Amino acid sequence: MANCAIVGVNWGDEGKGRMVDLLTGNYDIVVRYQGGGNAGHTVINEYGKFALHLLPSGIFRKGVVNILGNGVALDPENLWTEIEDVTSKGVAISPQNLKISDRASLLLPWHRELDALEEARLADKQYGSTKQGIAPFYSDKYQKKTVLAGELFYPEELRSHLADILEWKNLTLTRVYGADPFTMEMLDEWLANCCEKIKPFICDTGEFMKAAQREGKNILFEAQLGSLRDLDYGIYPYTTSSNTMAAYAPIGSGLPSAKIRDIVGVVKAYSTCVGEGPFVCEMFGAEAEELRKAGVEYGAPTGRPRRVGPIDIVATRYGAEVQAATEIALTKLDVLSYMDKIPVCTHYLLNGEKTDRFPFPTALSAAKPVIEYFDGWKCDISGVRRWEDLPEAARKYVSFIEEAIGCPITYISVGPERDSIIIRK
Ligand code: GDP
Repeated sequence: MANCAIVGVNWGDEGKGRMVDLLTGNYDIVVRYQGGGNAGHTVINEYGKFALHLLPSGIFRKGVVNILGNGVALDPENLWTEIEDVTSKGVAISPQNLKISDRASLLLPWHRELDALEEARLADKQYGSTKQGIAPFYSDKYQKKTVLAGELFYPEELRSHLADILEWKNLTLTRVYGADPFTMEMLDEWLANCCEKIKPFICDTGEFMKAAQREGKNILFEAQLGSLRDLDYGIYPYTTSSNTMAAYAPIGSGLPSAKIRDIVGVVKAYSTCVGEGPFVCEMFGAEAEELRKAGVEYGAPTGRPRRVGPIDIVATRYGAEVQAATEIALTKLDVLSYMDKIPVCTHYLLNGEKTDRFPFPTALSAAKPVIEYFDGWKCDISGVRRWEDLPEAARKYVSFIEEAIGCPITYISVGPERDSIIIRK
Protein backbone atom coordinates (compact mmCIF):
# COMPACT_ATOMS: atom_id res chain seq x y z
CA MET A 1 0.00 0.00 0.00
CA ALA A 2 1.01 3.60 -0.52
CA ASN A 3 -0.25 6.94 0.73
CA CYS A 4 -3.61 8.07 -0.57
CA ALA A 5 -5.62 11.29 -0.62
CA ILE A 6 -9.39 11.42 -0.80
CA VAL A 7 -10.49 14.73 -2.22
CA GLY A 8 -13.60 16.45 -3.55
CA VAL A 9 -13.77 17.16 -7.27
CA ASN A 10 -16.87 19.35 -7.31
CA TRP A 11 -18.29 21.98 -4.92
CA GLY A 12 -18.05 19.81 -1.79
CA ASP A 13 -20.56 17.37 -0.24
CA GLU A 14 -19.58 14.70 -2.76
CA GLY A 15 -19.54 11.95 -0.14
CA LYS A 16 -15.87 12.10 0.84
CA GLY A 17 -16.63 11.11 4.45
CA ARG A 18 -18.32 7.93 3.27
CA MET A 19 -15.32 7.06 1.08
CA VAL A 20 -12.80 7.76 3.85
CA ASP A 21 -14.87 5.65 6.24
CA LEU A 22 -14.81 2.82 3.69
CA LEU A 23 -11.10 3.00 2.90
CA THR A 24 -9.65 3.75 6.35
CA GLY A 25 -9.61 0.02 7.02
CA ASN A 26 -6.54 -0.12 4.73
CA TYR A 27 -4.57 2.71 6.36
CA ASP A 28 -2.79 3.29 9.66
CA ILE A 29 -3.22 7.05 9.84
CA VAL A 30 -5.98 9.41 8.67
CA VAL A 31 -5.15 13.09 8.59
CA ARG A 32 -7.25 16.18 7.97
CA TYR A 33 -5.03 18.83 6.40
CA GLN A 34 -7.20 21.90 5.76
CA GLY A 35 -10.50 23.57 6.56
CA GLY A 36 -12.49 23.69 9.73
CA GLY A 37 -16.00 23.17 11.01
CA ASN A 38 -17.57 24.78 7.93
CA ALA A 39 -18.50 21.54 6.21
CA GLY A 40 -19.82 18.24 7.43
CA HIS A 41 -18.82 14.76 6.44
CA THR A 42 -21.71 12.40 6.95
CA VAL A 43 -20.70 8.90 7.96
CA ILE A 44 -23.06 6.00 8.60
CA ASN A 45 -21.62 2.91 10.24
CA GLU A 46 -22.20 0.40 13.05
CA TYR A 47 -22.14 3.19 15.68
CA GLY A 48 -24.90 5.24 14.00
CA LYS A 49 -25.07 8.35 11.82
CA PHE A 50 -22.56 11.14 12.33
CA ALA A 51 -22.03 14.60 10.85
CA LEU A 52 -18.31 15.08 11.39
CA HIS A 53 -17.03 18.63 11.05
CA LEU A 54 -13.45 18.52 12.20
CA LEU A 55 -12.71 14.98 13.39
CA PRO A 56 -11.09 12.82 10.71
CA SER A 57 -13.45 10.14 9.40
CA GLY A 58 -11.05 7.39 10.52
CA ILE A 59 -12.09 7.98 14.11
CA PHE A 60 -14.45 4.99 14.02
CA ARG A 61 -11.80 2.42 13.09
CA LYS A 62 -9.92 0.65 15.87
CA GLY A 63 -6.15 0.93 15.49
CA VAL A 64 -6.30 3.96 13.16
CA VAL A 65 -4.52 7.10 14.38
CA ASN A 66 -6.36 10.28 13.40
CA ILE A 67 -4.53 13.54 13.00
CA LEU A 68 -5.61 17.15 12.75
CA GLY A 69 -2.76 18.72 10.83
CA ASN A 70 -1.27 22.20 10.99
CA GLY A 71 -3.40 23.32 8.02
CA VAL A 72 -6.77 23.00 9.77
CA ALA A 73 -8.75 25.76 11.44
CA LEU A 74 -8.78 24.36 14.94
CA ASP A 75 -11.83 25.52 16.86
CA PRO A 76 -11.32 24.11 20.39
CA GLU A 77 -14.91 24.73 21.43
CA ASN A 78 -16.53 23.00 18.47
CA LEU A 79 -13.97 20.22 18.45
CA TRP A 80 -14.73 19.37 22.05
CA THR A 81 -18.49 19.34 21.38
CA GLU A 82 -17.86 16.96 18.49
CA ILE A 83 -15.63 14.69 20.59
CA GLU A 84 -18.34 14.52 23.27
CA ASP A 85 -21.01 13.73 20.69
CA VAL A 86 -19.02 10.93 19.06
CA THR A 87 -17.86 9.37 22.36
CA SER A 88 -21.46 9.44 23.69
CA LYS A 89 -22.32 6.96 20.90
CA GLY A 90 -19.73 4.46 22.05
CA VAL A 91 -16.67 5.47 20.01
CA ALA A 92 -13.46 5.62 22.05
CA ILE A 93 -11.41 8.81 21.57
CA SER A 94 -8.13 9.26 23.40
CA PRO A 95 -4.69 10.75 22.71
CA GLN A 96 -3.84 7.31 21.31
CA ASN A 97 -6.23 7.63 18.36
CA LEU A 98 -6.55 11.41 18.03
CA LYS A 99 -3.57 13.72 17.76
CA ILE A 100 -3.68 17.47 17.17
CA SER A 101 -0.72 19.21 15.59
CA ASP A 102 1.01 21.64 17.93
CA ARG A 103 1.44 23.82 14.84
CA ALA A 104 -2.29 24.06 14.11
CA SER A 105 -3.52 27.62 14.56
CA LEU A 106 -6.44 28.16 16.93
CA LEU A 107 -9.71 29.64 15.76
CA LEU A 108 -10.18 32.41 18.32
CA PRO A 109 -13.43 33.40 20.05
CA TRP A 110 -14.01 36.41 17.79
CA HIS A 111 -13.63 34.63 14.47
CA ARG A 112 -17.19 33.35 14.30
CA GLU A 113 -18.55 36.74 15.34
CA LEU A 114 -16.44 38.51 12.72
CA ASP A 115 -17.76 36.16 10.07
CA ALA A 116 -21.35 37.02 10.98
CA LEU A 117 -20.60 40.76 11.18
CA GLU A 118 -19.02 40.76 7.73
CA GLU A 119 -21.85 38.76 6.15
CA ALA A 120 -24.32 41.24 7.71
CA ARG A 121 -22.32 44.16 6.31
CA LEU A 122 -22.33 42.56 2.85
CA ALA A 123 -26.14 42.24 3.06
CA ASP A 124 -27.38 41.12 -0.40
CA LYS A 125 -23.81 40.64 -1.66
CA GLN A 126 -23.00 37.82 0.78
CA TYR A 127 -20.57 35.03 -0.14
CA GLY A 128 -22.74 32.52 1.68
CA SER A 129 -20.44 31.87 4.60
CA THR A 130 -21.41 29.16 7.08
CA LYS A 131 -20.40 31.67 9.77
CA GLN A 132 -17.98 29.25 11.40
CA GLY A 133 -15.28 31.91 11.37
CA ILE A 134 -13.20 30.25 8.68
CA ALA A 135 -12.44 33.28 6.46
CA PRO A 136 -11.50 35.57 9.40
CA PHE A 137 -9.45 32.71 10.85
CA TYR A 138 -7.38 32.10 7.72
CA SER A 139 -6.86 35.79 7.03
CA ASP A 140 -5.63 36.22 10.60
CA LYS A 141 -3.42 33.15 10.29
CA TYR A 142 -1.70 34.64 7.24
CA GLN A 143 -1.41 37.97 9.05
CA LYS A 144 0.22 36.00 11.90
CA LYS A 145 -2.50 37.17 14.29
CA THR A 146 -3.58 33.94 15.87
CA VAL A 147 -1.90 31.45 18.20
CA LEU A 148 -0.65 27.91 17.71
CA ALA A 149 -2.14 24.98 19.62
CA GLY A 150 1.31 24.20 21.06
CA GLU A 151 1.38 27.61 22.76
CA LEU A 152 -1.09 26.19 25.28
CA PHE A 153 1.96 24.56 26.88
CA TYR A 154 3.50 28.00 27.46
CA PRO A 155 0.69 29.74 29.43
CA GLU A 156 2.57 32.90 30.34
CA GLU A 157 3.83 33.61 26.85
CA LEU A 158 0.45 32.65 25.45
CA ARG A 159 -1.44 35.17 27.63
CA SER A 160 0.82 37.98 26.57
CA HIS A 161 0.58 36.92 22.90
CA LEU A 162 -3.21 36.83 23.17
CA ALA A 163 -3.30 40.24 24.88
CA ASP A 164 -1.44 41.77 21.91
CA ILE A 165 -3.80 40.19 19.39
CA LEU A 166 -6.81 41.20 21.49
CA GLU A 167 -5.79 44.86 21.43
CA TRP A 168 -5.45 44.76 17.63
CA LYS A 169 -8.62 42.79 17.03
CA ASN A 170 -10.74 45.08 19.22
CA LEU A 171 -9.87 47.95 16.87
CA THR A 172 -11.57 46.09 14.03
CA LEU A 173 -14.50 44.93 16.13
CA THR A 174 -15.31 48.32 17.59
CA ARG A 175 -14.20 50.80 14.93
CA VAL A 176 -15.06 48.92 11.74
CA TYR A 177 -18.14 47.02 12.84
CA GLY A 178 -19.27 48.99 15.93
CA ALA A 179 -19.39 45.75 17.91
CA ASP A 180 -18.52 45.17 21.56
CA PRO A 181 -14.87 44.53 22.36
CA PHE A 182 -13.60 41.22 23.74
CA THR A 183 -11.82 41.21 27.11
CA MET A 184 -8.93 39.27 28.61
CA GLU A 185 -11.40 37.70 31.08
CA MET A 186 -13.34 36.27 28.13
CA LEU A 187 -10.13 34.82 26.74
CA ASP A 188 -9.18 33.36 30.15
CA GLU A 189 -12.56 31.67 30.33
CA TRP A 190 -12.12 30.29 26.80
CA LEU A 191 -8.65 29.00 27.70
CA ALA A 192 -9.93 27.29 30.85
CA ASN A 193 -13.19 25.90 29.46
CA CYS A 194 -12.34 24.98 25.88
CA CYS A 195 -8.60 24.83 25.33
CA GLU A 196 -7.70 22.83 28.47
CA LYS A 197 -9.94 19.99 27.30
CA ILE A 198 -8.15 19.50 23.99
CA LYS A 199 -4.65 19.97 25.43
CA PRO A 200 -4.01 16.26 26.07
CA PHE A 201 -4.38 15.60 22.32
CA ILE A 202 -1.80 18.18 21.21
CA CYS A 203 1.65 16.95 20.21
CA ASP A 204 4.32 17.14 17.51
CA THR A 205 2.36 15.25 14.89
CA GLY A 206 5.07 15.87 12.26
CA GLU A 207 7.52 13.75 14.30
CA PHE A 208 4.83 11.11 14.76
CA MET A 209 4.13 10.93 11.02
CA LYS A 210 7.80 10.90 10.11
CA ALA A 211 8.39 7.94 12.41
CA ALA A 212 5.28 6.21 11.06
CA GLN A 213 6.55 6.59 7.47
CA ARG A 214 9.91 5.12 8.45
CA GLU A 215 8.05 2.10 9.85
CA GLY A 216 6.25 1.68 6.52
CA LYS A 217 2.84 2.83 7.79
CA ASN A 218 0.34 4.20 5.26
CA ILE A 219 -1.38 7.53 5.45
CA LEU A 220 -4.78 8.58 4.18
CA PHE A 221 -5.19 12.32 3.65
CA GLU A 222 -8.76 13.53 4.02
CA ALA A 223 -9.86 16.76 2.34
CA GLN A 224 -12.79 18.99 3.08
CA LEU A 225 -14.92 20.68 0.37
CA GLY A 226 -13.92 20.29 -3.29
CA SER A 227 -11.78 21.55 -6.20
CA LEU A 228 -14.17 24.35 -7.11
CA ARG A 229 -13.95 25.75 -3.58
CA ASP A 230 -10.14 25.79 -3.55
CA LEU A 231 -8.86 29.26 -2.69
CA ASP A 232 -6.48 29.38 -5.67
CA TYR A 233 -8.13 27.11 -8.25
CA GLY A 234 -11.82 27.45 -7.43
CA ILE A 235 -14.56 29.95 -8.26
CA TYR A 236 -12.93 32.83 -6.40
CA PRO A 237 -14.23 34.71 -4.44
CA TYR A 238 -16.92 32.07 -3.81
CA THR A 239 -14.30 29.69 -2.53
CA THR A 240 -13.29 28.65 0.90
CA SER A 241 -10.21 30.24 2.46
CA SER A 242 -7.93 27.22 2.29
CA ASN A 243 -6.54 24.84 -0.35
CA THR A 244 -8.69 21.78 -0.89
CA MET A 245 -6.16 20.29 -3.32
CA ALA A 246 -4.40 16.99 -2.80
CA ALA A 247 -1.18 18.88 -3.59
CA TYR A 248 -1.63 20.79 -0.32
CA ALA A 249 -2.00 17.62 1.77
CA PRO A 250 1.71 17.15 2.59
CA ILE A 251 2.03 20.80 3.70
CA GLY A 252 -1.16 20.94 5.75
CA SER A 253 -0.67 17.55 7.35
CA GLY A 254 2.72 18.13 8.96
CA LEU A 255 4.68 15.83 6.66
CA PRO A 256 5.86 18.02 3.77
CA SER A 257 8.00 15.16 2.44
CA ALA A 258 5.00 12.85 2.03
CA LYS A 259 4.53 11.24 -1.37
CA ILE A 260 0.95 10.53 -2.40
CA ARG A 261 0.52 7.81 -5.00
CA ASP A 262 -3.23 7.40 -5.09
CA ILE A 263 -5.56 10.36 -5.36
CA VAL A 264 -9.21 9.34 -5.17
CA GLY A 265 -11.36 12.16 -6.53
CA VAL A 266 -14.91 11.96 -5.24
CA VAL A 267 -17.58 12.98 -7.75
CA LYS A 268 -21.31 13.02 -7.18
CA ALA A 269 -23.50 11.47 -9.91
CA TYR A 270 -25.25 14.87 -10.15
CA SER A 271 -24.24 18.34 -8.95
CA THR A 272 -24.89 20.21 -5.73
CA CYS A 273 -23.62 23.49 -4.45
CA VAL A 274 -24.12 25.27 -1.14
CA GLY A 275 -24.19 29.04 -0.92
CA GLU A 276 -23.64 31.77 -3.43
CA GLY A 277 -21.62 31.97 -6.63
CA PRO A 278 -21.87 30.81 -10.24
CA PHE A 279 -23.34 27.33 -10.70
CA VAL A 280 -23.73 26.95 -14.44
CA CYS A 281 -25.65 23.65 -14.46
CA GLU A 282 -28.23 24.73 -11.86
CA MET A 283 -31.77 23.35 -12.13
CA PHE A 284 -34.78 25.20 -10.81
CA GLY A 285 -38.41 24.62 -9.88
CA ALA A 286 -40.09 21.25 -9.51
CA GLU A 287 -37.33 19.36 -11.32
CA ALA A 288 -34.76 20.71 -8.83
CA GLU A 289 -36.98 20.03 -5.83
CA GLU A 290 -37.46 16.42 -6.87
CA LEU A 291 -33.71 15.84 -7.17
CA ARG A 292 -33.01 17.68 -3.89
CA LYS A 293 -35.53 15.46 -2.09
CA ALA A 294 -34.28 12.26 -3.72
CA GLY A 295 -30.69 13.03 -2.72
CA VAL A 296 -31.59 14.59 0.68
CA GLU A 297 -29.54 17.60 -0.29
CA TYR A 298 -29.62 19.77 2.79
CA GLY A 299 -26.33 21.03 4.30
CA ALA A 300 -24.85 19.15 7.28
CA PRO A 301 -23.86 22.13 9.46
CA THR A 302 -26.70 24.52 8.55
CA GLY A 303 -29.60 22.44 7.19
CA ARG A 304 -29.95 24.84 4.24
CA PRO A 305 -31.23 23.41 0.96
CA ARG A 306 -28.42 22.81 -1.52
CA ARG A 307 -28.61 24.08 -5.09
CA VAL A 308 -28.81 21.10 -7.45
CA GLY A 309 -28.21 20.28 -11.11
CA PRO A 310 -27.14 17.52 -13.47
CA ILE A 311 -23.55 16.31 -13.42
CA ASP A 312 -21.37 19.03 -14.91
CA ILE A 313 -18.75 17.41 -17.12
CA VAL A 314 -16.89 20.69 -17.78
CA ALA A 315 -16.46 21.48 -14.08
CA THR A 316 -15.83 17.84 -13.12
CA ARG A 317 -13.09 17.34 -15.71
CA TYR A 318 -11.41 20.53 -14.51
CA GLY A 319 -11.86 19.51 -10.87
CA ALA A 320 -10.31 16.08 -11.46
CA GLU A 321 -7.40 17.62 -13.37
CA VAL A 322 -6.46 20.16 -10.71
CA GLN A 323 -6.63 17.45 -8.06
CA ALA A 324 -4.43 15.23 -10.26
CA ALA A 325 -6.94 12.48 -9.47
CA THR A 326 -5.66 9.02 -10.33
CA GLU A 327 -9.10 7.45 -9.92
CA ILE A 328 -12.69 8.51 -9.29
CA ALA A 329 -15.29 7.44 -6.74
CA LEU A 330 -18.72 8.20 -8.20
CA THR A 331 -21.26 8.56 -5.39
CA LYS A 332 -25.05 8.64 -5.08
CA LEU A 333 -25.75 6.92 -8.37
CA ASP A 334 -28.81 5.34 -6.69
CA VAL A 335 -30.37 8.80 -6.29
CA LEU A 336 -30.90 9.07 -10.06
CA SER A 337 -32.96 5.85 -10.24
CA TYR A 338 -36.27 7.76 -10.34
CA MET A 339 -35.44 9.68 -13.54
CA ASP A 340 -36.89 8.74 -16.95
CA LYS A 341 -34.18 10.71 -18.73
CA ILE A 342 -30.97 11.76 -17.02
CA PRO A 343 -29.63 15.20 -17.91
CA VAL A 344 -25.88 15.74 -18.27
CA CYS A 345 -24.21 19.11 -18.75
CA THR A 346 -21.63 18.20 -21.40
CA HIS A 347 -20.41 21.68 -22.46
CA TYR A 348 -20.87 25.35 -21.71
CA LEU A 349 -22.07 27.95 -24.15
CA LEU A 350 -19.92 31.03 -23.74
CA ASN A 351 -20.15 34.11 -26.00
CA GLY A 352 -22.10 32.03 -28.49
CA GLU A 353 -19.47 29.29 -28.61
CA LYS A 354 -19.61 25.75 -27.28
CA THR A 355 -16.69 24.99 -25.00
CA ASP A 356 -15.52 22.13 -22.81
CA ARG A 357 -12.97 24.30 -21.02
CA PHE A 358 -13.77 25.55 -17.52
CA PRO A 359 -13.79 29.37 -17.78
CA PHE A 360 -12.07 32.00 -15.66
CA PRO A 361 -14.27 32.68 -12.58
CA THR A 362 -15.49 36.10 -13.74
CA ALA A 363 -16.65 34.63 -17.07
CA LEU A 364 -18.64 31.84 -15.40
CA SER A 365 -21.77 33.90 -14.79
CA ALA A 366 -22.21 34.36 -18.55
CA ALA A 367 -21.85 30.63 -19.31
CA LYS A 368 -24.95 28.56 -20.15
CA PRO A 369 -25.17 24.79 -19.84
CA VAL A 370 -25.45 22.49 -22.87
CA ILE A 371 -27.56 19.54 -21.78
CA GLU A 372 -27.74 16.02 -23.24
CA TYR A 373 -30.08 13.34 -21.99
CA PHE A 374 -29.30 9.72 -21.16
CA ASP A 375 -31.81 6.92 -20.65
CA GLY A 376 -32.73 6.26 -17.04
CA TRP A 377 -32.78 2.75 -15.55
CA LYS A 378 -35.88 3.21 -13.42
CA CYS A 379 -35.17 0.49 -10.87
CA ASP A 380 -33.62 0.23 -7.41
CA ILE A 381 -29.86 -0.27 -7.73
CA SER A 382 -28.99 0.14 -4.04
CA GLY A 383 -28.49 -3.60 -3.59
CA VAL A 384 -26.11 -3.97 -6.56
CA ARG A 385 -22.51 -4.88 -5.65
CA ARG A 386 -21.03 -5.86 -9.02
CA TRP A 387 -20.53 -3.76 -12.15
CA GLU A 388 -22.04 -6.50 -14.34
CA ASP A 389 -25.23 -6.41 -12.28
CA LEU A 390 -25.92 -2.73 -12.88
CA PRO A 391 -28.63 -2.09 -15.50
CA GLU A 392 -27.17 -1.36 -18.91
CA ALA A 393 -28.43 2.25 -18.86
CA ALA A 394 -26.56 2.86 -15.57
CA ARG A 395 -23.36 1.36 -16.98
CA LYS A 396 -23.69 3.58 -20.05
CA TYR A 397 -24.11 6.64 -17.85
CA VAL A 398 -21.05 5.79 -15.75
CA SER A 399 -18.93 4.89 -18.78
CA PHE A 400 -19.83 8.16 -20.48
CA ILE A 401 -18.71 10.17 -17.42
CA GLU A 402 -15.51 8.16 -17.14
CA GLU A 403 -14.57 8.78 -20.74
CA ALA A 404 -15.62 12.42 -20.71
CA ILE A 405 -13.51 13.30 -17.67
CA GLY A 406 -10.62 11.03 -18.63
CA CYS A 407 -10.13 9.24 -15.32
CA PRO A 408 -11.08 5.67 -14.32
CA ILE A 409 -14.13 5.32 -12.07
CA THR A 410 -13.02 2.63 -9.64
CA TYR A 411 -15.77 3.00 -7.02
CA ILE A 412 -19.50 3.46 -7.57
CA SER A 413 -21.47 4.21 -4.45
CA VAL A 414 -25.12 3.17 -4.48
CA GLY A 415 -26.11 3.99 -0.89
CA PRO A 416 -24.83 5.75 2.22
CA GLU A 417 -23.95 2.58 4.14
CA ARG A 418 -20.37 1.39 4.25
CA ASP A 419 -20.94 -1.69 2.07
CA SER A 420 -23.22 -0.05 -0.53
CA ILE A 421 -20.39 0.08 -3.03
CA ILE A 422 -19.34 -1.39 -6.36
CA ILE A 423 -15.58 -1.75 -6.64
CA ARG A 424 -14.14 -1.92 -10.16
CA LYS A 425 -10.49 -2.84 -9.71
P1 GDP B 1 -18.86 14.98 2.25
O1 GDP B 1 -18.77 16.28 2.97
O2 GDP B 1 -18.15 15.02 0.94
O3 GDP B 1 -18.45 13.83 3.09
O4 GDP B 1 -20.38 14.77 1.85
P2 GDP B 1 -21.69 14.91 2.76
O5 GDP B 1 -21.55 14.12 3.98
O6 GDP B 1 -22.08 16.32 2.90
O7 GDP B 1 -22.77 14.32 1.76
C1 GDP B 1 -22.87 13.06 1.43
C2 GDP B 1 -24.26 12.58 1.85
O8 GDP B 1 -24.68 11.60 0.98
C3 GDP B 1 -24.29 11.95 3.22
O9 GDP B 1 -25.55 12.14 3.80
C4 GDP B 1 -24.04 10.49 2.92
O10 GDP B 1 -24.54 9.60 3.91
C5 GDP B 1 -24.79 10.34 1.65
N1 GDP B 1 -24.25 9.39 0.72
C6 GDP B 1 -22.93 9.15 0.43
N2 GDP B 1 -22.83 8.26 -0.56
C7 GDP B 1 -24.10 7.94 -0.92
C8 GDP B 1 -24.66 7.10 -1.94
O11 GDP B 1 -23.98 6.47 -2.73
N3 GDP B 1 -26.03 7.05 -2.01
C9 GDP B 1 -26.85 7.75 -1.19
N4 GDP B 1 -28.16 7.65 -1.34
N5 GDP B 1 -26.36 8.56 -0.23
C10 GDP B 1 -25.00 8.65 -0.11
